[in-house]
Amino acid sequence: MIIESKKVKKWDGPETERSASGDYVFYHLLNIQAAIELIREHEQPLLLNYKIFENTKPVQRHVVGTFICKHKKKEICWRSGKICIEIYTNKSEFCVKVWNQKCRVCNRINIAELDKDIYIQKVQYFLRLHLGLRLPSKQDTAKTLTTPPHKEQLCCACAAGVCSEARRTCE
Ligand SMILES: [Zn+2]
Ligand SMILES: [Zn+2]
Repeated sequence: MIIESKKVKKWDGPETERSASGDYVFYHLLNIQAAIELIREHEQPLLLNYKIFENTKPVQRHVVGTFICKHKKKEICWRSGKICIEIYTNKSEFCVKVWNQKCRVCNRINIAELDKDIYIQKVQYFLRLHLGLRLPSKQDTAKTLTTPPHKEQLCCACAAGVCSEARRTCE
């Protein structure tokens, strides 16, 4: 989907899309929202093309969200400040992958309910850098969340060998 200037095509795809492996998710609507906001505040026409591609080297960030795993008797709920995201860019094209986490009780893979403001801020900050746009006067102020140490065995990005949090704990 191409988003250019005021001509924003309506997104008629799903809000989110899970990878075939189940390990990660594309939050299509949030990604488009992030792009549209950037375009609207930019005076010059700005071309952004949102599509799924994974053939460039991504930049990694961490965002905040809540996971809820529904069991028969009770729900297991956890907050994570270390949800791994990977931002892919190629000229005007971009794409963001969000890695899922496993439930510590049943080991099932769960999809995060993201803190949308933090996610959008992080994606926009990187898109600004990539496109050479003016950065917000306030530095990347996205709140960080203090959560228990990153549990590598429950992070799908760690399992795939791409999570920087894993590398840090191995040092
Ligand atoms: Zn569970
Ligand atoms: Zn990890």
